Amino acid sequence: MDSNQRMITWSSAWALVEGQVVCTGCMRTQTILESDKPFIHEPGCITGGESASMPWVHLHEILDFERG
Ligand SMILES: [Zn+2]
Repeated sequence: MDSNQRMITWSSAWALVEGQVVCTGCMRTQTILESDKPFIHEPGCITGGESASMPWVHLHEILDFERG
C-alpha cells in the first residue's frame, strides 16, 4: 500500500477537527496529548473494530513511511 492509499484509509476512519482527531464512526475525539493512549470509541462504533485504535500513532507511521 503506498502512502496515498494509507492516507485515504486513515481519513476514511478519522478526521482532524480543531487539533483533535475525530472518529468518523462515533464522533469521539482525542487530543494529541493522548496520542500514546488507545482511542476509546463509543460502544458499537463500526470504526472501533479497526486495527488503528491509536490514530495519532497510525498517522505518524504514514508520515514516516512517506519520508523514508
Ligand atoms: Zn469510533
